[in-house]
Amino acid sequence: MRRTTTLRATAPAQRASATRPPASRAATAERQIFDTIAEAIAGRRLPPGTKLTEEQLASTFGVSRARIRRVLLLLSQERIVTLKPNRGAYVARPTPQEAREVFAARRLIEDDMAARFAALPPAARAAAARRLTAHVERERAAAAAGDRSASIRLSGEFHQLVGTLAGNAVLAELLEPLIARSSLAIAAYQPPSAEDCAPDEHAAIITALQDGDAALARRLMAEHLEEVEHKLVLDGDAEPAIDLKRVLLGA
Ligand SMILES: [Zn+2]
Repeated sequence: MRRTTTLRATAPAQRASATRPPASRAATAERQIFDTIAEAIAGRRLPPGTKLTEEQLASTFGVSRARIRRVLLLLSQERIVTLKPNRGAYVARPTPQEAREVFAARRLIEDDMAARFAALPPAARAAAARRLTAHVERERAAAAAGDRSASIRLSGEFHQLVGTLAGNAVLAELLEPLIARSSLAIAAYQPPSAEDCAPDEHAAIITALQDGDAALARRLMAEHLEEVEHKLVLDGDAEPAIDLKRVLLGA
């Protein structure tokens, strides 16, 4: 099955097995619908607050509404979607307070990850830094191509990759939903003109990690996350009309 979204990019296996239905043709179809919607949300083609109409999704994917309801339930368990009683499903919209708390939690976790990464043995550190550098090259290519959706997805994946390579699976697991929720906060509160994570800032963090300079890596990571948070305008509230079929199938 495909697992390429920012929201679920590098989920630890134990989490995946806990949340995924048993493999079957129906479950595979549901997972593909899940991934398509999650990718559209991660790439911010479906902004926070967008109503996800069961009927429209069922017709878009050519499946029953019951199957769509199961997918929406899975998405709500990941906090990507909010289910409102008698009103249906919406792309989750974090409150300004929740956005601040998510970034505060990320700073704590990613500070520990930077320290942990910088303390790896030199050979492991060099190998991990090479993987991160290759990832940043993909971020640069997406930015150069003007592919905003890929840029957004790769930005989130960079942080998840640092977490995974730092070698604490529990922290990496905690980080994953926080990255998803900060992606939604950014979608809700960042002006369209502002950039996401700058690849140059990621590259500077990699250099410090590779050098084993824990103090510098921690400082750069903290400054980088503060920079992303400070770009949020917490009184923004635009809700454009969304054509689900066009966004999800490119129709
Ligand atoms: Zn970043």
